[in-house]
Amino acid sequence: MCFTGLYQKVLTRFFYLSGLITCNNSDNWYNFGQTCIGLFMNAFQQLHHKRLLQSTKPFNARGKGVNRCFSCQVSVEHCICDLKVDYSCDAGFVLILHDIEILKPSNTGRLVGDVCDNFFPFIWSRTEVDPELIKLLNDPSWFPMLVFPEQYAMPEQQVITEKVTLQSNQKPLFILLDASWRDARRMFRKSPYLTKLPIVTLPTGTTSDEHDSRFALRNAKINNHLATAEVAAKVLSQQGEVLSGTLLDLWFDVFSWQYQKSVCQTAKGSAQCLEDYRQFIQTHGLTYQGSKNEYD
Ligand SMILES: [Zn+2]
Repeated sequence: MCFTGLYQKVLTRFFYLSGLITCNNSDNWYNFGQTCIGLFMNAFQQLHHKRLLQSTKPFNARGKGVNRCFSCQVSVEHCICDLKVDYSCDAGFVLILHDIEILKPSNTGRLVGDVCDNFFPFIWSRTEVDPELIKLLNDPSWFPMLVFPEQYAMPEQQVITEKVTLQSNQKPLFILLDASWRDARRMFRKSPYLTKLPIVTLPTGTTSDEHDSRFALRNAKINNHLATAEVAAKVLSQQGEVLSGTLLDLWFDVFSWQYQKSVCQTAKGSAQCLEDYRQFIQTHGLTYQGSKNEYD
């Protein structure tokens, strides 16, 4: 296991054992425990942790017996944390997750945060909207675009199919709905703040049966659909951030390959993805987090 993952796990276990994060009798201690843990988590992990604390029963995902790295959710033996690079794309991403999606260790939306510092995950709710999300969508320094198939656009919605030209003081903010396709359509329909945004659509759609998804972590029913990280990679490339899009694509392959090995799935894809990823890092002079570059 990587050092960060190990440290987070030990710290979390310590607070659980000491009762600081399960004891609701003392709000101060509870908040202290949460704050300490939060210091070592990224935004996605914090949201995941918060959601776990609200659960009344454990989430039994496939491979529930696997001893996972706290950080990357791959098994400890196949942890990919040391392969993360010190890199951020220019664009921002808002990830709006279905309530169940954040609990799935196979979730790939989290990978977007590994190549994007401006990464803002939220859990979707039909009845209320996080004020922080609305604040982001109204921030003039961002140009928010919902990544969604154009056939679902409302009559008044702008549809973007090519690289958009922004004002010099604006950056693109891509909004991704991280859910099953059925849930994503419902989330779109039930969220008026989404139906007002411009829609950016990928050339071949995001749910076509001919679509070439390399996502092999879940059942065959959705294998025709692109994984969230794949969609993010494609939209980055479409909007001019080709290096970022390619890096995310390669990182997704590494996660997918290692994840399959960790849950003993029949591996789809190729071990070559690890070599391709390392080669890309070297070619573009990128550094691994911690600057070890031991794979050079
Ligand atoms: Zn890890």
